[in-house]
Amino acid sequence: MKCPNCKSAVLSATKLEAGLPAMGCPQCKGALVSLLYYRDWAERVSFPESETGEDIKLEEVSDNNAGQLCPKCGRIMSKYRISGSVTNKIDYCVACDEAWLDGGEWELLKALKLGDKIPTVLSDKWQRHVRHEASEQKWTDRLIKQVGQKSAAKAQEFREWVINHPNKSEILFYLSHEE
Ligand SMILES: [Zn+2]
Ligand SMILES: [Zn+2]
Repeated sequence: MKCPNCKSAVLSATKLEAGLPAMGCPQCKGALVSLLYYRDWAERVSFPESETGEDIKLEEVSDNNAGQLCPKCGRIMSKYRISGSVTNKIDYCVACDEAWLDGGEWELLKALKLGDKIPTVLSDKWQRHVRHEASEQKWTDRLIKQVGQKSAAKAQEFREWVINHPNKSEILFYLSHEE
């Protein structure tokens, strides 16, 4: 099997973790993971909390955004964004039940405490959550640009408080009222 990313490099049997086999690319460090094995592994594994907080620079993990072809069957793999805070996506082939992780994305998943949650990430529910998170992030970014980091943080804190307040509308009315 050839690497879907580098095209010419050949994938070889490796392990992402003890007991978790994968087909890895020696060149780009990407890996093809069979979810059949993965689900079984994820049920047995328990990541110690300390291990998940690894110091990795999220923005340095690059993601190949072009449509990737499944190295097994040649079909186009579907992309599933991992979270609202990173742009990385997991490529998944429904036909083969295999997921492709670009180099560094396994470490990224672990850092986001998603190391044992790939099937969850691929679910509709998670993808809706990610879209929501991403649009929230856009609003926050916009506010930061308009009023600066400090005021934006204050506004965010206030928003979270007011949004769940039983007298939310009274408070918002009071705020909008001008003399
Ligand atoms: Zn490669
Ligand atoms: Zn396939």
